Amino acid sequence: MAKNSNEIFEAIIERVKVLDPVNSRSWFNTLKLKNFNGGQLEIACPDNQSAGFLQDVCISSFTLAAQQITGHLVTVKFGSENKNERTSRSAIPLKLHPDYTFDNFVVGPCNRLAHASCIAVSNSPGKTYNPLFIYGTVGLGKTHLLHAICRETQINKPSAKIQFISCDEFVNRFINAIEAGTLPQFKNQFRTVDLLVIDDVQFLRERDQSQEEFFHTFNALYANRSQIVLSADAPPGEIPTLPERLTSRFKCGLVARIDPPTHETRVAIVQKKAKLRGMKITDDAAEYIASKVKANIREIEGALTTLYALVGGSEQEITREFSRFALGDKDNIDKNITITDIIKAVTTYYDVRPADLQSKKRSQSITMPRQVCMYLARNLTSHSLEEIGGHLGGRDHTTVMHACGKIGELQQADTKIQAQLAELTKRITK
Ligand code: ADP
Ligand code: MG
Repeated sequence: MAKNSNEIFEAIIERVKVLDPVNSRSWFNTLKLKNFNGGQLEIACPDNQSAGFLQDVCISSFTLAAQQITGHLVTVKFGSENKNERTSRSAIPLKLHPDYTFDNFVVGPCNRLAHASCIAVSNSPGKTYNPLFIYGTVGLGKTHLLHAICRETQINKPSAKIQFISCDEFVNRFINAIEAGTLPQFKNQFRTVDLLVIDDVQFLRERDQSQEEFFHTFNALYANRSQIVLSADAPPGEIPTLPERLTSRFKCGLVARIDPPTHETRVAIVQKKAKLRGMKITDDAAEYIASKVKANIREIEGALTTLYALVGGSEQEITREFSRFALGDKDNIDKNITITDIIKAVTTYYDVRPADLQSKKRSQSITMPRQVCMYLARNLTSHSLEEIGGHLGGRDHTTVMHACGKIGELQQADTKIQAQLAELTKRITK
């Protein structure tokens, strides 16, 4: 039966979820097909920021998905649906991650002050805390908050000139400006903004010309009452590469620390992140994931990506048991389990030959052990999907991903399969 364009488009979105478990989000379902003819697929996004994000980060998965679904080469283009949107006034395009909003930030005792000060700054830039200095160790949400400030300021004050930049990029652009002889433009670009946000200032180089430039930029903006927001991995006085004259300026506004989240906050973060991906996850499972991942919240994203990939981007409910099976035994990776070990255990258990698993045979008695192999290899080794497919008769990574999703699903619904997988895991890891 021939499919119409909208059906094809839906199938492409579903395929992206399988191909790109890291970046897929539930808002992808709100993307609209704008135009599809010949080899061009135009997709309408809610705003410029999301269109920019998809163009920068997801273009290859969309292109591949479109190619797989239609069977021919397709060029994908993203555009904003919102015609009234202003384009950014700053010289460097403002690239904000769609996830990093205040709405998506979970507030707890560990980050309450930092969060409140960021909100205050975006409501009245330059007037409350200037500069605002946020610090904390890696993965505690500094970059997330800085993006949220930019986004909120853009909404509150569309005419504001906003510049977000990592410290590394500041230094690189400075060096390039010197080489290209465009220093005046560089100075102008940074000294005329309403809001300057610089991430990870611990990377400012010691006694470097770029540090000197940064010092003057800071002074110019401060004198202008333009808002400055900075982040670092330590408080101003404890960054060894920064001179006193800079750190004393950093301290004159508000310095807010972010601490590692408590268990309750971590659970809430897991739930929030799962929701963003359109994943259904039980409270029990969220508790389990929060207890596995303690120090760095980035690992929560990693754990959710694994689970998302295993259910193939579907809305299948993720239970504690399933999470424990998928994430709990990662310690086994240290035991140097090989795919050969897994193939051996599986073929013995189901009484099939390794050659059958690698063959093209598609009878249920072969397919099922083959898929179990893929699933176990995914969970008990650190091999990529491609490598696993390679060991099982040169199958491609989508086949492996599909198998993992299928067995993951069975594992939840079928107690017999559950017992088989548990037994196999025991044999392989002993
Ligand atoms: P940092 O810049 O401090 O190293 P990031 O801002 O990159 O950390 O955060 C790492 C990940 O953790 C991001 O995915 C971010 O969304 C998430 N994260 C951190 N804190 C929170 C929070 N309180 N609520 C929701 N997500 C958070
Ligand atoms: Mg960061």
